[in-house]
Amino acid sequence: MTFESIRGQERALGTLRRALGRGRLAHALIFAGPAGVGKRATARALATALFCKNEPGLGCGACDDCHLLETGGHPDLLVEDLERAREERATASKLSIDQIRRVRAQLSMRGVRSDKKVGIIDQAELLTTDAQNALLKTLEEPPGHTTLILIATNADALLSTIRSRCQSILFAPLEPALIRELLESEGTDPELAETAAGLAEGSLDRARSLAAEDGLEYTAELRTKLDALPRATLPEVLDLAAELAAPRGEKGRARQQLNRATVLEWCRDRVLRAAEATAPPTDGYGHDRLDEVRRALRRVDRAYAISREFERNANSHLAWDRLLLDLRESR
Ligand SMILES: [Zn+2]
Repeated sequence: MTFESIRGQERALGTLRRALGRGRLAHALIFAGPAGVGKRATARALATALFCKNEPGLGCGACDDCHLLETGGHPDLLVEDLERAREERATASKLSIDQIRRVRAQLSMRGVRSDKKVGIIDQAELLTTDAQNALLKTLEEPPGHTTLILIATNADALLSTIRSRCQSILFAPLEPALIRELLESEGTDPELAETAAGLAEGSLDRARSLAAEDGLEYTAELRTKLDALPRATLPEVLDLAAELAAPRGEKGRARQQLNRATVLEWCRDRVLRAAEATAPPTDGYGHDRLDEVRRALRRVDRAYAISREFERNANSHLAWDRLLLDLRESR
């Protein structure tokens, strides 16, 4: 993974390349931006640029260091994320203080293949407060020759004291045309690529899961279930919430994004439909009918607030219960 292979993030890459070129890369960085736009890939590309001895600052993609980075076996790169937390505790929904202790211990050791160490903390918005406080100590006294990259879809969930000690690099949503091109280059049928790119809201991950064999079908089914919510019984609502809260398997993480995005989109569609239905008659505004639009908009606001909560609380059954019950009540 080199900078060359990252698409659609010219600004973020420009900042990183300039910092590398001047030898002024910050010890700690936050890669902030929506899911599925290339933050993890860029973090890996940065590690490649730091470790490659053939083409320092870029990465040659061919040497032993580059190869080890590509296969995930480089001894001087440490990656911590929710998956890692779940290897230790299957039900983990946060990144633990132990993970931060491991990062601290690793970064304070001498490099094996070079004098550098790189740590990547993915899904940093899921760090517990204790873990964030532990991390703060590392940020206050960064060990020499180390680079720590925090990746976050919701950097607001990080303590302000952490944010102020890191250089923030912002990642933008990807253009639909680029997403379409990338999907097509991965072998997706052009028509499906176009549809998925249009629905992906700038996230390549989301586009990929939409374009996957049953992605569009899955979304359509979910929308049908949401349409039926007002008539659903309490157990049915809670069953659906459980299903949405814990999508398992390989596609789990992508599915979770898809679930959230589909619910938000569904709410927005309801607002539009309600607004259309309440087009003011020629003889003045029907105030009681506009109430429907106001109610629908409040529903979108609530759904949005809860969706922000998901980002802090990756897999919360409770949050899904609340959201769906809320949607059922506020028809
Ligand atoms: Zn190399």
